[in-house]
Amino acid sequence: MKLATPLGRQQLQRALLFIALFCLLVLSLQLYLGHRSRQQLLVNLPQRIEQQVMPLLAQSVWDVDQAATRDLLQNLLQQEGISQLSLRNNQGAVQLEIGNRNAITHVVELPVQSARTGDQPLGQLRIGLSLSMLEQQLWQECLLSLLVLLLGLGGLAAINHHFLRRQVLRPLQQLQDRLKLRQPASDGEQDELQQLSSSLQQLQQLQHDYEHSHQQQERELARHRDHLAELVAMRTAELEHLIRFQHLISELSTRFIHLPLAEQHQAIASALERIGTLLEVDRCYLFRVTPELTIHDNQEWCASGISSTAAFYENYPIAESQWFIPQLQRQQLQAFSSLEEIPPEGHQERQQFAAHGIQSIAVVTLAQQRQLLGFFGCDVVTRPRQWLDKELSLLRLVGEMLSNVLLRKQQMEELDATQHALSRANEKLEGIANTDGLTGLANRRLFDLRKQQEFAAACALKQELSVLLIDVDLFKAYNDCFGHLEGDQCLRQLASELAQQFQLEAQLVARIGGEEFAVLLPHLSANEATLLAEGLRQRIWQLAIPHMASPVSTHVTVSIGVASLDRHRHDSIDDLLAEADSRLYEAKHQGRNRVVGPQAAR
Ligand code: GH3
Ligand code: MG
Ligand code: MG
Repeated sequence: MKLATPLGRQQLQRALLFIALFCLLVLSLQLYLGHRSRQQLLVNLPQRIEQQVMPLLAQSVWDVDQAATRDLLQNLLQQEGISQLSLRNNQGAVQLEIGNRNAITHVVELPVQSARTGDQPLGQLRIGLSLSMLEQQLWQECLLSLLVLLLGLGGLAAINHHFLRRQVLRPLQQLQDRLKLRQPASDGEQDELQQLSSSLQQLQQLQHDYEHSHQQQERELARHRDHLAELVAMRTAELEHLIRFQHLISELSTRFIHLPLAEQHQAIASALERIGTLLEVDRCYLFRVTPELTIHDNQEWCASGISSTAAFYENYPIAESQWFIPQLQRQQLQAFSSLEEIPPEGHQERQQFAAHGIQSIAVVTLAQQRQLLGFFGCDVVTRPRQWLDKELSLLRLVGEMLSNVLLRKQQMEELDATQHALSRANEKLEGIANTDGLTGLANRRLFDLRKQQEFAAACALKQELSVLLIDVDLFKAYNDCFGHLEGDQCLRQLASELAQQFQLEAQLVARIGGEEFAVLLPHLSANEATLLAEGLRQRIWQLAIPHMASPVSTHVTVSIGVASLDRHRHDSIDDLLAEADSRLYEAKHQGRNRVVGPQAAR
């Protein structure tokens, strides 16, 4: 470290100043005290000499011992402040004189008296005192003290400076270097402590700035973290929503695969409601498009309080839409979060949507192999809604599922129609096969089939079963008389009457031969059957169909044989019919135009 560092220099300057002042003070004090002590010395010296030296001097003078006197005076001259000594006799003659006359400032004369001489002095000792000599000595002492002080204090200052340099300045510099702070600009030169203080202030400012920026960063981070948390929650909700939507699509797809045609309408209605509810839209609809390109057979779910649009679009020719539907056919999906997104070309549709209160709309085209089947869509009326990309993908998936449903429905309807037509044809064929061509009654084939069924049922349920065999009397003669065509007409008239007399659903009336008819009467006893037969015979007679050639009556008449099931006697239906036939024969034999039954009623 340079000696001239500011703090070192300051310390040095102050040390020097202190040394100077201290020395000055000490010097002044020493001078003052020295001066006083010397003054005191000059005052006390004659008395002291008189007491200590004068008796000895008087003795040596008395003894006239020149050598001792001289030695005594020489010793006395060594005393501080004495410049000259002059021994004189009583006459004033100088007997002995030593020392320097020039430096004398004061003169003291002491009588040389001896106890032997009494009051008579032996002479005079003239003592020349020199204050300047004393002052010179004092100055020498002061200079010596000054030198000692200077050396002592200088050494102390050097040690102090060394200590300062080693224990303070160097660590300060190292601290300064370690802080690596920019030296603050200042007008005057700063010492190390001021620099350190500035650095500490700078450091404090930096720390304050750092804390401020740290707090700001923490606030930013907290904001960012909150924002992220919101995003995560939103994304999680979106994902859960999409997963629920996926599950619903998967569940609906599985359900629709094997759904019978009859249940499809209800299933679609339920699917529209579930999709609409899950997507939180206000309308969810499926519009079918006929081969004539008209919207038809609409199904729509509306949230509570939302008006339906299904009726508006029923029988709507898709050609009326000049932009929206052509666009749908090209792109499969059209979704608008706001009607403002619809371009000017779609002005007409935008007005139409607005009239239905729509704020957001998403529609998917349902098509299979280039055949347009319909549209599936969602409207939001109460608020605008943003469509998520993933949601639109899932709506496409719903579209594909519903396309399959519609195609299957179409195919099943076609199949159903074909089966229906086939069934009708079969029924017709069956009818033809079982119907008598002339009279329209059941024919022999059907009679043979039903007789077995009724017999089996009557046996199984232990129920009554009766049969009537009806034969037109003398019909050959009728033909011969009126011709074969009139004969046919007569047969038709009789068949019509028979059909009216019986309940054709339960009681089978059949033409089993040329002019022979049979009636199966389940649940009827022999008596009831005989009464019915008699009523029939009378009704036919009352028809009054002329029969001039008949010897029995002027009108066409019939003979009827009645038989009722008796499980002890009849092992088969043919046994029962044989009995009825035998009674018919008996009726003919008895004269015709009559009924022969178990009780031979007439
Ligand atoms: P009976 O009282 O004994 O029954 O005398 P019948 O003449 O009715 O009996 P018969 O068996 O001798 O004659 C039946 C006649 O019924 C013969 C036939 O010309 C006539 N006949 C049968 N089928 C038809 C038909 O489909 N149309 C017409 N017009 N006549 C028929
Ligand atoms: Mg006959
Ligand atoms: Mg006959």
